[in-house]
Parts: sequence; C-alpha cells; structure tokens
Amino acid sequence: MFTKAQELLASYFGYSSFRRGQDETIKNILDGKDTVCIMPTGGGKSLCYQIPALVLEGTTLVISPLISLMKDQVDTLTQNGIPATYINSSISITEANQRIQLAKQGHYKLLYIAPERLDSIDFIDQLIDMRIPLIAIDEAHCISQWGHDFRPSYLHIHRVLDYLPVQPIVLALTATATPQVRQDICSTLGIAEHNTIMTTFERENLSFSVVKGQDRDDFLSGYIRQNKKEAGIIYAATRKVVDQLYEKLNKEDVSVARYHAGMNDNDRNEQQERFLRDEVNVMIATSAFGMGIDKSNIRYVIHYQLPKNMESYYQEAGRAGRDGLDSECILLYSPQDVQVQRYLIDQSTGASRFSNELEKLQHMTDYCHTENCLQSFILQYFGEEPKQDCGRCGNCTDDRNSVDVTKEAQMVLSCMIRTNQRFGKQMIAQVLTGSKNKKVIEFSFHTLPTYGLLSNRSMKDVSEFIEFLISEELIAVEHGTYPTLKVTTKGKDVLLGNQLIFQKERVETKQIVKDHPLFEELRHVRKEIAQGEGVPPFVIFSDQTLQDMCAKLPKTTGEMLQVKGIGEHKLEKYGNIFLQVITNFLEQHPDIDAMITTEVITERKQSKKAMKNSHHVTYEMYKQRDTLSHIAEVRELSMQTVENHLIRCFEEGMEVDWPSFVPKEYESMIASAVEQAEDGLKAIKEQLPDNISYFMIRAYLQMNK
Ligand code: ADP
Ligand code: MG
Ligand code: ZN
Repeated sequence: MFTKAQELLASYFGYSSFRRGQDETIKNILDGKDTVCIMPTGGGKSLCYQIPALVLEGTTLVISPLISLMKDQVDTLTQNGIPATYINSSISITEANQRIQLAKQGHYKLLYIAPERLDSIDFIDQLIDMRIPLIAIDEAHCISQWGHDFRPSYLHIHRVLDYLPVQPIVLALTATATPQVRQDICSTLGIAEHNTIMTTFERENLSFSVVKGQDRDDFLSGYIRQNKKEAGIIYAATRKVVDQLYEKLNKEDVSVARYHAGMNDNDRNEQQERFLRDEVNVMIATSAFGMGIDKSNIRYVIHYQLPKNMESYYQEAGRAGRDGLDSECILLYSPQDVQVQRYLIDQSTGASRFSNELEKLQHMTDYCHTENCLQSFILQYFGEEPKQDCGRCGNCTDDRNSVDVTKEAQMVLSCMIRTNQRFGKQMIAQVLTGSKNKKVIEFSFHTLPTYGLLSNRSMKDVSEFIEFLISEELIAVEHGTYPTLKVTTKGKDVLLGNQLIFQKERVETKQIVKDHPLFEELRHVRKEIAQGEGVPPFVIFSDQTLQDMCAKLPKTTGEMLQVKGIGEHKLEKYGNIFLQVITNFLEQHPDIDAMITTEVITERKQSKKAMKNSHHVTYEMYKQRDTLSHIAEVRELSMQTVENHLIRCFEEGMEVDWPSFVPKEYESMIASAVEQAEDGLKAIKEQLPDNISYFMIRAYLQMNK
C-alpha cells in the first residue's frame, strides 16, 4: 500500500519524495494504527492525512479549528484534482445539508469540519451514514488545557468515536511538542503514546538572526525596499505600534496591510485577503495574525519587537518559507521591549502563571544575547539535542569586524552623569554633537566638558550608538513621564576603564531572492490565473514550483511533469499556459539557458557555504601555526573575534592547544583568582591585572577541566 502512496504523491501533488516523518506517519495509518504526528509548522502535516485519504475507501474527516484555512485547503485539493469540501459557519444551512448529502453518497475524499459541529448530536448522527476510514485532527494541541489554544469543542471528538459503527483510524497532528500536551492528546483520544511520530523541529530553509543596537526603522525600511517583490510579515507587540508602522510605511509608498484585534472583522478579513492574494506584499500585525494562514510564499518574518516567549516566536517566525525555499526570520532586539512584554504579562497573567511567564520571557531574552547558533538554541529549548550548528543563522555566518568603541562609550556615559542622568537619548545626543538647541542652552549644557565631543558625528549616528549601549546594558532606560537614561553597574565599569566595549559593524540588509526575469513573468501569470479563479496565487503553484520551472526550463509536457509540485491534474489545467510563457521567454532571451539559471542557484548555495565557515577559516590558519594576532591582522578581524572563532571550533569538537595561550608567568595568578572568585569570568577578571585577557582566563579554565 505504501508504494501506492508514493505514486499518489507524484501524480496528485507532483512531489518526488516524502519529507521526514511523512512516510512513517503514513505507513502507520495504512497499518491501521492510531497515531500522533508532531512536526514543525511548514513541516508538511497535511499530506500525512491527505495521502491516506486517497488510498483508503470512503471520506476522511478532517477536524480543523481554523475556518479561514479550510477554504484554502479545499481549494488546494480541488486544484490537484482531489474531491474535497468543508462545512463550517461560513456557509448556509442549505449549503451544509447539500454537502452532507453528497458526502453520504461518497462524493468526497476529504470533508473538513470545524470542531464546533461536534457540539451538535444531530450533526454526529449524520456522520453515522458516512463511510469514514480516518479522522484527522489538525492542531490537536487544542485538546489540551495546557496548550495555548484550548478549544472545549475538541473534547467532543471522542463522542464521534463512540457513535460511529465502524471505528475509524485516528490521526492527531500538531506543532506543539511539550510532554504535557502530548500526553493530553494521547489520553483524550486513546492513542498509545509509543505511536507518536515526532520529527526534528529544525527548519532547514530558514535562517534566523537577531539585530540589535541598530536603528530599527532604518533597518526595516531598507530591508523592505530591497525585498519589495517578496511577501513578508512584520510582527509588533502592540496595536499602537502596528498602526504607527503602517502609517510610516504607507508614507514610504510600501504596499502594506495591517491586522490586529482592535480592527473590526470586515477590515481584518479584507486586509488578510489582500495579503494572501499577493495584492500587498507586507503585512504588519500583532500576534493575533497568522493562525490559519497557509500562505506558502512568505519569504521573511521580521519581529519589530521582542515576542513574549520562544513558543510564540518559533510559531510566528515559522510562517516563513513553508514552500521550502530559503527564507529569513529576523528579530530586531531592543532591551526596552523586555519592559513592554513584562507589562503585557503583568496585565494578562494570573498570579499562578506569572513567574512561569517571566521565566519564558527570560529565555526569549537569552536568545537575543547568545553568540552561538540560533537554530541550535531554539532546538535545545524545545528539548532536542542538535547535532551541529546550522551554518545559516546570523551567528553562524557572522564575520563582521569588531571595533573598540570604549572611548566613545565613555563619552556618552560621562555626558549622562554630567547631566545628572535626568534626560533621554535625544538630549544626550544633542549635547554630545554640540547642538545649539534652545533647551541645551537653557540648561547651560553648552558649558559642559562633554559638549560637542562627538560633533563630527550626526545626531542620528549618536542616537544609534546610544541604542547600542542600551542593548549592551551599559545604559538602562527608566520610564517615568519621559524615558530617562541611567548608567548601569556594567556602564560604571566601562566608565572606570575596567572593561572594554567592542561594537560590530552594522548588519546590512540584503536581498533574499535574486532577480530572475522569467520568475517575474511566471509570477505575473500565476496571479492573473488566481484572480480569475478567485483563489490565492500560492494555491495555483508555490514559489518553489515557479523556481523549479526557471531551473529546469521545461519545453514539453513530459518535462513539465518533472517540475516539483506539478501533478497530472495541474499539468492538464495549467501546463500549456506556463509552457507557452517559458517558450516565449526563451525566444526573447536566447542567451539564457538552463545552465545559467542552475548556475545562479548553485552559486548562491556556494557563497552561503563560503560565508558560513568564517570560524573554520580561522581554525585552518591556526592549525597552520599562525598566531592569533597575525590571523586577526590578515583577516581584518578583531582579536576578540578570532578568539571567539577558536572557542566556537573547540565547542564543535576541534582540538585547541589551550596551555599555549596561558603565559607561564600568569598561571599561578590566574589560579588563585579562580579560587577566590565566587564564579563567572567577570569576577575572576576583576581580580587580575588588565593585561590578562578574558581569553587567557578561558584558556586556563579549559586546560584545567
Ligand atoms: P504544516 O501543516 O505542517 O504546517 P503543510 O502541510 O501546510 O505544513 O505543508 C507545508 C508546505 O510543504 C506545503 O506548501 C506543501 O505543499 C509542502 N510539502 C509538503 N510535503 C511535501 C513534500 N513531500 N515535498 C515537497 N513539498 C511538500
Ligand atoms: Mg497545517
Ligand atoms: Zn546557526
């Protein structure tokens, strides 16, 4: 039966192989075993019941909590030539009855229903006359009161199971993996726990990064400008910020939509539709947006503000790149947002869960500060032991230089002290740049020794530098009537010259997808067809399919069938239209052939590889007996970066000769400092002369492990 499943995968969906976990789940189902399937968002859960639905006799019942999703899913199936329908509150009673009758006659392979239907015994009675070989429960975490979206109606699912004359196979699917939720699903549905199939949560096509100490608005505008043809979501923490960003980007002529709980249903739906249909490319939203969005061609998800926990973050970020193409997830970090989230938690959480939520927020903040692989951090958070670094994320690919900015930091901090730590960013920047602003003069700040110390830099530059110092936690922001800046303990250390501060070069925005003239034409045709059929473009073909057409340049229907995501049904429907577009294009561009296009793709892969191994390059040089300072010079990196590279390689299991980094004459000094200091590198460092670096201490600790 499994061979049949593979054939159906190719003929209906146009895919050549199953993804991780899909084959196992489908085998289980076809063996008649009730199963729980846990895969990350975008992992491909739908196929796990859609393929068995095609193999098994009768109508598979799919319970899904998301009304907005049902139509798109049914449209997608219909597009692939699979008879399917849905019943939910968006259709009339007459329509619903019609569909039930047709289902009883065996017209559909799949019937989607909202869980609320199961509240009615009348409805369940109708099911008795249907032949139901399989019940798929999507978003099965809604069964659990421990999950984040508990739905009481989900508890009625067992009613159906009790009523039906022939027991269907039960498949529960979710992206929530916590043990508590898993147990709840198993016990409520009577599934044996060993029949849980869980894949890694790694998403190989996503690259995560955290951008901090940089002007967020600038970054955002630049990013959107560079990727204006691609679809992306920007998440903000509050409605107010969503509205502000919406206005701002609108003024910059960006095609944007917005979504938050403060808008009325009509507005929200309209905005969502426009985004789904590629009529606008950018969606700015609170976390209210996204449940039930299957749009597969989202190329980036930017968090303008810190989300409240890793669960929300991974779920929201995971909406990028469902089609499997490279996509980016960027978090713009600013320490003030920790306060915003604290406040939101404070407002919405009962005392019993308060400390739990704060702890989760702490993990979220830790994510923003880690220098290790971000994907690995996420996987570890969800209880996985990643085998290796991802090589794609902002930290894995970070080869920016670090610059010593201790002096400038001291100027800012001392300016704050001289103005009694009573002012905000604006005023401090004005004093430092030597502004003749009325306020500055009124307070006589033009007579301060720090006045104009940074007059060679712009206001904006200095403000951004202050942002950086805030993100490094040398400065804290206190929110009174106005936000005021205070020097932290760490800041005092820097001021006293006990600690150096390095700043990395800014993260430059880049284009995610290379322009390809044929891709643009295909995308255009897809949109026209979609408009004609009243469905979102990604339902016709995914971006992956269009890209594969660019790479393969099919000239015959046989070749077209080789393209990812084109099954027989779609070939028949759209094959000729797209073949025509490709033929015309090739006539107009005789110079472009498959060689070049595939070259572009491999080149992209290679340049990524070259980038990812910056620390390995350092390591190779180190192995060639280069000194660290020489490596730093040749590679134009700071000493600190080179040292970090070495530490990272060591953590990856490579050999490092630690004793060679601890000068003999310092060894005993370090030893006694280690003994005396409570713990933490900083405490040890404080007891030692300045010329003993952090790196020496770390080396010492490693060799004495
Ligand atoms: P989930 O429900 O797990 O979030 P979906 O079922 O919506 O994920 O699938 C995400 C995307 O992956 C869809 O666009 C789907 O067509 C695609 N997909 C699923 N399985 C495969 C496969 N075996 N090969 C290629 N693409 C696949
Ligand atoms: Mg799904
Ligand atoms: Zn990584």
